[in-house]
Parts: sequence; C-alpha cells; structure tokens
Amino acid sequence: MNIPKTSLPRVVIIGGGFAGMALARKILKEDMQMVLLDRHNYHTFQPLLYQVSTSGLEPDSIAYPLRKITRSSEKCFFRLAEVKSISAEENTVHTNIGDLVYDYLVIATGSKTNFFGNESIEKHGIWMKTVPQALNIRSLILENLEQATITDDPEKRKSLLNFVLVGAGPTGVELSGAIAELRNHIVPRDYPDLDPNEMNIHLLEGLDRVLPPMSEHASEKAHEMLEELGVKIHLNTMVESYDGHLVETNTDLAIKTETFIWSAGVTGAPVKGLNASAIVEKANRYEVNAFNQVNGYENIFAIGDIALMQTEEFPKGHPMVAQPAIQQGKHLAKNIKRLIRGEKLEAFEYFDKGTMATVGRNRAVVDLHKWKFSGFFAWFVWMFVHLWFLVGFRNRTVTFFNWIYNYINYDKAARLIIRPFKGHEERMSLDKEKV
Ligand SMILES: Cc1cc2nc3c(=O)[nH]c(=O)nc-3n(C[C@H](O)[C@H](O)[C@H](O)COP(=O)(O)OP(=O)(O)OC[C@H]3O[C@@H](n4cnc5c(N)ncnc54)[C@H](O)[C@@H]3O)c2cc1C
Repeated sequence: MNIPKTSLPRVVIIGGGFAGMALARKILKEDMQMVLLDRHNYHTFQPLLYQVSTSGLEPDSIAYPLRKITRSSEKCFFRLAEVKSISAEENTVHTNIGDLVYDYLVIATGSKTNFFGNESIEKHGIWMKTVPQALNIRSLILENLEQATITDDPEKRKSLLNFVLVGAGPTGVELSGAIAELRNHIVPRDYPDLDPNEMNIHLLEGLDRVLPPMSEHASEKAHEMLEELGVKIHLNTMVESYDGHLVETNTDLAIKTETFIWSAGVTGAPVKGLNASAIVEKANRYEVNAFNQVNGYENIFAIGDIALMQTEEFPKGHPMVAQPAIQQGKHLAKNIKRLIRGEKLEAFEYFDKGTMATVGRNRAVVDLHKWKFSGFFAWFVWMFVHLWFLVGFRNRTVTFFNWIYNYINYDKAARLIIRPFKGHEERMSLDKEKV
C-alpha cells in the first residue's frame, strides 16, 4: 500500500462517510499516523443524492475529494481501496490493493440497501445509495420520458410514464416530490408532445403513514404536500414482486412501470472477519459499547450507521442518520487521543438536533423537539441546514447558486443523459458493491 513505517500509533479508518470524515478531520494534526481507506475517492453527501437523481444538482456539488482532507498533514494518507476482511489476531486489514497493519482500527462503513430477501426487487429494481446510482436514476427517468414521446403503443407509454417509489421515509418522500416537480414544471416545457397528466408518480408505503420516523404532525403535513403536488400515495401497501415491468402488492394494487425505485430500508454494511458476537445479526451492525469499541475488541471501533450502541433512550441503537455518525466520529477522535495518552475513555452521548424532510419547492417539514413546523419557513430552514453541512466551500457556493437559479426559473439545469442507463446487466456491473 506504500504507507511508510512509523513509530507513531497507526489509526486505520475504513470509510470516508459522515462518521469517518468527522473523525479524520479531528485527528489530522495529532501524534499518530492516520490512514483513510474508501472504495470511492470522494465523500458523498447522501441527503442530497435525490437532487442528483432528479436533475437538480450535478454530482460534483455533493461529492468531496477525500484526498483534500488527508493532504493537510504529512502523517495522513488516503488509499482508494475496498476492504475485504479483517484479521483481528494479526491487527491487519485485507484490501484489494494489499494488507495493512493497524494499532487502532475504526470501521465506518455505513449501510447498504435492504431488500428484505426479495430477489425480484434486487434483480429488477433500482436504488440510491451512491452517486453512480443517483446518475442511473437520472438517466432512467430522462430516457423513459424520451421513449414515451416516440412510442405509439398507449400501454407502453403508460408504463414508461408510471414512476413507482417504494418506502415513504425521507428518501421516498423527497424523491417523489422532486419527480412530481419535474412533471409539473419541466415536462410541459421540454416535452410538448407528452401530456403531463399521463405521468403518474406512485409512492407505496407498508405502514399507515408517510415519514414514519417523524412526528404525526410532520407525516400529516408531508402527506398533504405530496398530494398537492399530485403524488399518488398508497399506505398499508407492501410490494410482493417486480418483474421489470409489473409491480404486484399485497392489495389489489398492481402497476405497470419501467421505473421502480426501492427506498424502503437499509441494513448495516459490516466487513468480514470479526467474531460473530461482534454483530447484532438482525440489524447487521456492530455491537459497540459507550466508547464505540466493538464487542470483544479493545482496539477496534465502529462509528456511524454501522455501529449499534444500545442506550436507555435508544434500545435499538441510534437512528441511522448523519448526526449520530458525525457526533460519534468527533467523540471517538477525543477518545483515541485519550487512549494514546493513557487516559480514561469518556462515554458517548447523542445530542438529537431534530429531523427534517423536504417535499419540494417551498414545502418541508421540521421536527425540532417540541417545535414542529412545516411550509415555507421549514423549507428555508431545511435549505440552510443542508448548505451548512454540505462539505466544502465550493460545493456550498455551487449548490446555493444552483438553487437560486432553479427557484427563479422553475428549472432543473442538470437534465442530461451523460451515461445512458442500459438496464439491469450494466447496472450491476457498475454497482459492483451493490450498496
Ligand atoms: C438517499 C439517502 C438520503 C439520506 N438523507 C438523509 C437526511 O436527509 N438526513 C440525515 O441525517 N441522514 C440522511 N441519510 C442517512 C445518512 O446519509 C447516513 O446516516 C450517513 O451517511 C451515515 O454515515 P456513515 O459515515 O456511517 O456512512 P456513509 O456516509 O454511508 O459512509 C460509509 C463510507 O464507507 C465506504 N465503505 C463502505 N464499505 C467499504 C469497504 N468495504 N471498503 C472501503 N470503503 C467502504 C463507503 O464508500 C462510504 O464512503 C440519507 C441516506 C441516503 C442513502
């Protein structure tokens, strides 16, 4: 791997997501050698992936080069590497570019899409965890609109213009709202040969409300806003299969569609090699103590989505969202410094800053402890918070001006089919990691 030998303690971090990056930034200047490994050479700001999928933003606005973090210290290194397994007895990680010995290992590999064992969905569906996947969705939506303009088969056109999203959590809600806006503002101008009323956006949810992790107030408001935008919501509806053309559910509902987007859940993305007792099987996440140490190991830590820390308030672990990941990353940085100095570790405490989701232009819902609000002000807060947390000054600036442009012009400038979506076979070869 071409990492120089050192007498300093070596900290190896797997994953440059929210957790890994927060940790890396805090230990850059410390007396240790830090090696950051990721299968991508950039950090992905997942909360805005849906804007890439729906042509609102270019991918480089929400991605940040990981070498920009490590370059500020001679003791820090980034390697583009897929970690395959860990040998804890030898303190070694095995990757596709070689092996690396660590003193302290931090696993921050996040989560992957959960298909709940449904093979037809995994085989024919499309999902969104990475930038290439978001670009696949963008291409698929635009290609289907192009196809719909030229087909003279009304059944085929219907299927091309039906967009089905499964899972009404924040991703499903944000994505369906954004596709509805595409239908309401872009399709009438760009595709004069199409009748926008023929384009249907269906949002399917197994539970009895949209945004189940948020308050009842947020659910009701988001439901109203989605309906205002023309999204057809089907609650208490579980998808049973999708064969690439037809979605079948546990109710009478069956929809013909060429676009089936699965956003119904995630599960942990652990690395092979640790003892079975380190993993909480149901969640596929590492069981960690209050110091983020993985169960059974003193020098292996897990942070972010992949870590399950049981507390009184969160008996099933912290929510798999960005804030616990960032806070755990920052906290572990302090604990690793303490460990190296031979001091006592301090327990992690999560500070819940609230949750929010946007449904579209001027529409969002925010739960801030006792304060629950929606509409234009919530949307403004949502934009401010996302700009604030977006990594890098350039990304913030580009996104800010893009949003102003889109707002004034009712436009989505990035509606380009740069890398055509060629269907299942190609997608699987592009998304090797299947996250
Ligand atoms: C579409 C979408 C929308 C979201 N919206 C929101 C939102 O609005 N608000 C919110 O708070 N949260 C949101 N989340 C959740 C949030 O993004 C995650 O909770 C957060 O990213 C978790 O951070 P992490 O560092 O644990 O993992 P990640 O950010 O997923 O980072 C994991 C990193 O590890 C790397 N990696 C994984 N396995 C390996 C391996 N074997 N070898 C090398 N590298 C590896 C990956 O490439 C990745 O860079 C959203 C998630 C998605 C997918």
